[in-house]
Amino acid sequence: MVNEYEIKKQICDIGRRIYNRNMVAANDGNISVKLNDNEFLCTPTGVSKGFMTPDFICKVDREGNVIQANPGFKPSSEIKMHMRVYEKRPDVGSVVHAHPIYATSFAIAGIPLTQPIMPEAVISLGCVPIAEYGTPSTMEIPDNLEKYLPYFDAVLLENHGALTWSTDLNAAYMKMESVEFYAQLLYQSKVLGGPKEFDEKNIEKLYEIRRKFGMAGKHPANLCLNKDGKNCHNCGGACQDGEFKKFPGYQYDFVGGDSKPAENNAASDAQLVAEITKQVMAQLGMK
Ligand SMILES: [Zn+2]
Repeated sequence: MVNEYEIKKQICDIGRRIYNRNMVAANDGNISVKLNDNEFLCTPTGVSKGFMTPDFICKVDREGNVIQANPGFKPSSEIKMHMRVYEKRPDVGSVVHAHPIYATSFAIAGIPLTQPIMPEAVISLGCVPIAEYGTPSTMEIPDNLEKYLPYFDAVLLENHGALTWSTDLNAAYMKMESVEFYAQLLYQSKVLGGPKEFDEKNIEKLYEIRRKFGMAGKHPANLCLNKDGKNCHNCGGACQDGEFKKFPGYQYDFVGGDSKPAENNAASDAQLVAEITKQVMAQLGMK
């Protein structure tokens, strides 16, 4: 078990990475980590996430009430949306919120990330829907987010930014990087005349690979077969309105199912995606 001070240092480190990658401006963004069912560490409000030290980090209970905070620091006003994720997804160990430029531009334009354009994004994210706009720091954001939580590990927040979650801090941060990279590629390819999308056969091959590897987390590939038999990549991100069906024979729940820190998760996830991508590219003759 990693000690609390170590986790606080890791939060500061991820804060620096988010800031240095231009995923937040000024004092924006927030990060939280679950210690146990009633204790969570989170970043404070009103500070740049690029310049935090462990004494900045606050501790809250499951309702977001302060358990411990040093003088001058109070938890992020957005802690409510983090708490909703933990409440509805007991498998989640960390939540990251940022305003990355490309992902946030899609959130502002009202365009969900649903086009199947590259293996990694299809395998690791599926599509990324837009949770309806809510006024920051009110219950509107967690309430609008809730219906996406059983099916996704990343959402865009309408006219606001992006939110990702996973088993541990590193994996939740990696999701944020993946969302932004996907959004950037989608944007650039639109500028170049529009992306060439995978056809249904190739999408299904990618889904199949994800199922075979039993990757952790929720992914619409496993769940989002709506009424007309469409998958998440051709229901325009509105897949929550369809009738979800479990993929026959597929075990889609988190491996392990609890929130123990699993440091190797992100690394093995990345390796897995790299390996899978290689196989798929070879299969598609796109080496
Ligand atoms: Zn925000």
